Amino acid sequence: MAQTHYRAYQAVGEGKLELVDRAVEDPRPGMVRVVVEACGVCHTDALTVEGGFPGLSYPRVPGHEAVGRIDAIGEGVSRWAIGQRVGVGFLTGRCGDCASCRRGDFVNCSNQAITGLHVDGGYAEMMTASEHALVSIPDTMTSADAAPLLCAGVTTFNALRKSVARAGDLVAVQGIGGLGHLAVQFARHMGFRTAAIARGEGKKDLALALGAHLYIDSAAKDPAEALLELGGASAIVATASSPATFGPLIRGLRPKGQLILVGAGFEPMSVNVSDMLFGERIVVGTNTGAPIDIEDALNFSLLQDVRATIEKVPFQQAPKAYAKMLANEARFRMVLEMQGAA
Ligand SMILES: [Zn+2]
Ligand SMILES: [Zn+2]
Repeated sequence: MAQTHYRAYQAVGEGKLELVDRAVEDPRPGMVRVVVEACGVCHTDALTVEGGFPGLSYPRVPGHEAVGRIDAIGEGVSRWAIGQRVGVGFLTGRCGDCASCRRGDFVNCSNQAITGLHVDGGYAEMMTASEHALVSIPDTMTSADAAPLLCAGVTTFNALRKSVARAGDLVAVQGIGGLGHLAVQFARHMGFRTAAIARGEGKKDLALALGAHLYIDSAAKDPAEALLELGGASAIVATASSPATFGPLIRGLRPKGQLILVGAGFEPMSVNVSDMLFGERIVVGTNTGAPIDIEDALNFSLLQDVRATIEKVPFQQAPKAYAKMLANEARFRMVLEMQGAA
């Protein structure tokens, strides 16, 4: 007999997640229905659970690192088939008509919503998604391993491959957490001279084990100074969730080098303008990637054996996993597992 209901954790405001039963719905035209197998817990989920993001309304199911199998397809969907394993990331799929889309820039589609914020996401046994949001998952990668690569993975992978850094250049990763521990692996495997920056000596062994050539303790030494002594970085990927720490890094760039912002935080970032004028240094933001970028990130990860360090948690413990992430206690990505969850 076909399943009539599925369970989901929905955000209802004030930091609360509640478990609900929802009726299974058929996918609308252009959409597919996915039986979720795993969903990563990302720091950005806090925008949904804690509230305050423009366009957010409750109840809303968070989660934009979802992997599962298609079990129904809506009218007009031809590229995807029932039974196929797919991922759904941060962006809900291009419109195809706006100015950015017409220029082939799907990440900046002006009619694109955010999964788990404007539409329901993957903290659920089932979800629906646009055919344009879907990512094909390689057969040899588990759903739990793939999940964090859909947001944290593609974000750091794309930041590095879009940067001005070339093979052999010095690249620094600031912050060794959920994003940073992936950025270090990607940087090393893309052929950069990789420096990891974190506070204290506690992350040193881990950073070196992940592939960093060098470790800079930002509590012991100004990291910009340390990078300049090494000739200056072509790119610095700032992954910490403390924008106040970003500005002082700019001085550590070589001329025309880029500070790439991937970590988010609420406080503003301040910049010493002369650090940018002299050396014509650049500050740039990056937003995850299009589905094809995510497929590239997954395939590169398989090729070079890059993986997130994950802690798997049964679906029923989603609120606990979310709380652990929010308290910065995840080492390094929490992943909800739906299959077999009683
Ligand atoms: Zn995310
Ligand atoms: Zn568009």
